[in-house]
Amino acid sequence: MGIVVQKFGGSSVADAERIISVTRRVIAEKDKGNWVVVVVSAMGKTTDNLLALASQITDRPDPREIDMLISTGEQISISLLAIAIQSMGYPAISFTGPQIGILTDQIHRKAKIVHINDEKIKQALEEGKVVIVAGFQGCTLENEITTLGRGGSDTTAVALAAVLGADVCDIYTDVDGVYTTDPRIVKNARKLDRISYDEMLELASQGAKVLYSRAVEFAKKYNVPVHVRSSFNDNPGTMVVKEEKDMEDIVVSGVAYNRDEAKISILGVPDRPGIAAEIFGSLGDANIVVDMIIQNVAEKELNDISFTVGKDDFNEALNVAKQECKRLKARDVVYDTEIAKVSVVGVGMKSHCSVAAKMFRALAKNNINIEMISTSEIKISCIINGKDVDKAVQAIHDEFELEGAK
Ligand code: ADP
Ligand code: ASP
Ligand code: MG
Repeated sequence: MGIVVQKFGGSSVADAERIISVTRRVIAEKDKGNWVVVVVSAMGKTTDNLLALASQITDRPDPREIDMLISTGEQISISLLAIAIQSMGYPAISFTGPQIGILTDQIHRKAKIVHINDEKIKQALEEGKVVIVAGFQGCTLENEITTLGRGGSDTTAVALAAVLGADVCDIYTDVDGVYTTDPRIVKNARKLDRISYDEMLELASQGAKVLYSRAVEFAKKYNVPVHVRSSFNDNPGTMVVKEEKDMEDIVVSGVAYNRDEAKISILGVPDRPGIAAEIFGSLGDANIVVDMIIQNVAEKELNDISFTVGKDDFNEALNVAKQECKRLKARDVVYDTEIAKVSVVGVGMKSHCSVAAKMFRALAKNNINIEMISTSEIKISCIINGKDVDKAVQAIHDEFELEGAK
């Protein structure tokens, strides 16, 4: 008996009609004789709308209450899908994350899964039921509801596939697969048949929303075959796989962008050993994940320290930065929420030089200023002005000739 995990994102379950077409895909898999576990996201823009409601009340809501609020979205879609499958004459049962035993740590809004109890799922599967699980949520040992970070239904799906030893984890979304860049921005982006876990991880961490980075980490760690495909057509999608030998021949495989970060700078910080440890220690204590960091020597014995954080953490991070500024007797705190990050990713970068120069040239030709740079073995990222992001992604995609690359 094969086990298949199918995940349907928000746009795939946006209304009753879409839920009915999802039902057909689920039933087709069941009719092949497989055990089917389905993970669903909240309908359409439900999560955004719930967050917008909270932000109409305050700009620093309690993260616990936000989790209580946004975990409701997925509960609507699981029950509707179960009703739809049952109405077609197939047994189905829906579960929330806490019900199924998805145990997480205690960090609200970006909790990590620490354990999954597969007993309840297996029992329902053995009873012949399609099991539908709410994505994006779990609970702590104290029974507190948590969520796994925006886009976290992917994580639920891949983690369940890993625990159940599924044959495949199908991620159904609103594009045909993983492209060389976001096909909504670059019309000549090319669909990839295969991509390595490491490249997918970098693309996802740099903002390619098509898969959530934590999900790719799970897939890599437990070797889960992931198939990203469209819920709107039957085209073959993209397989996310272990790195294969010929993959290193391709220098750059994709371009990603992220508009969801903001930059904070603490100006005139005393230049003493241990200062960076103190500032970033305080941010860490507030559970804020910092992405890029740069330090400039501003004047004698004074530094400017700039860093980027996710927009979700911006208000909290600004608050911490202001406290640190006061404590260290630094000059000022300034910020910019209108930035974007563009990145090129490719395992072939390890063995090819000049990738950075080529990327910078593409930006220069288009008069786009670079504010920060960071690199890893297989990626280069630049912070630029947010208004330039579409132009930058297109220019870099053209410069590396990704449309025609094989
Ligand atoms: P879902 O709701 O199904 O989880 P998401 O909106 O989270 O869907 O992810 C799909 C979106 O990811 C696409 O609509 C596309 O705009 C975006 N995207 C960004 N980068 C890429 C890429 N390299 N390949 C495919 N899609 C991408
Ligand atoms: N509904 C959640 C979100 O919008 C989780 C997901 O869609 O994966 O972020
Ligand atoms: Mg998503």
